[in-house]
Amino acid sequence: MSVPMSYANIVKNELARVISSKSCCQTAELASLMRMGGTLVIGGNRNLGINFTTENAAVARKVLVVMKQRFQLKTQVIVTRARRLKKNNSYHIKVIPTPEVTELLTQLGLLRQGGIYSGQDKAFFRKACCRKAYLRGAFLGGGSVNRPEGDYHLELVSSSEEYGKTLVGLMKYFNFSPRMTDRKGDYIVYLKDGDAIESFLRLIGACEAVQIFKGVRSVKGMRNKVNRLVNCETANLQKTVDASFRQVENIKLIARVQGLDSLPYTLREAAEVRLNYPEATLQELVEKLDRTVGKSGMNHRMRKLEQIAQTLAGGNQG
Ligand SMILES: [Zn+2]
Repeated sequence: MSVPMSYANIVKNELARVISSKSCCQTAELASLMRMGGTLVIGGNRNLGINFTTENAAVARKVLVVMKQRFQLKTQVIVTRARRLKKNNSYHIKVIPTPEVTELLTQLGLLRQGGIYSGQDKAFFRKACCRKAYLRGAFLGGGSVNRPEGDYHLELVSSSEEYGKTLVGLMKYFNFSPRMTDRKGDYIVYLKDGDAIESFLRLIGACEAVQIFKGVRSVKGMRNKVNRLVNCETANLQKTVDASFRQVENIKLIARVQGLDSLPYTLREAAEVRLNYPEATLQELVEKLDRTVGKSGMNHRMRKLEQIAQTLAGGNQG
């Protein structure tokens, strides 16, 4: 009988399949992955190499693919079998020391003026797409999350305090309120709130894992929700429910007829978040998108989606 996969590994397996189409984001993601799980080694001719270790096979595969395809580096993989039951195998990737590695390390911001640089990766934080990719790399390299049935807990573990602080700053930028603590020389950045964990997983692209998380939470939260609903003003609630029901119907129509991929990014983003949170208010949707759009902007997008749906509905009849 096989050991059931941990929720953290479900998340990592999904994230490992997310390959960003932009090279800026690929670099940002690899940079944080290497900061979390990589070490530098010095080889012949004082060339630098990299060792990277992970317990997740899909993560190892992703690192290998990016290293080989994007940077054409020579790599070796060694698998250490777990000696004990319930322990995972470890995958050690060795990037053979060559002059090309130095170039990669410079691009990743790990090397500056010939020395190893452990400061902030500000260069990767100019664009929102890269900031998300950077956090995804951090989770792949040193992240963990409890199964949603248990206590809510998500953490990013690194051996550098400075890097931990970088992650805290980056998460605050996205309106999270992470805490940091140290445990035997490791620095742990963590979230304890179910909503925050859900948004964080969404932000870094683990959308399927979020559905699992939501499913478990909704069962857990049923009692709370009933209480909340009773306390709500019924009229407002009805209005919100009617509007979001209409929006969901519009979006489903668009998805059926032409596919959501046909929409411009902003509309597709609005459509997806609405489908994921059919019961949320517009303001809550704005929060889910980390306030990259305001409430009136979100309203505008919903009206746009409605227009498209109406056009499609008219076209179908004719
Ligand atoms: Zn980017």
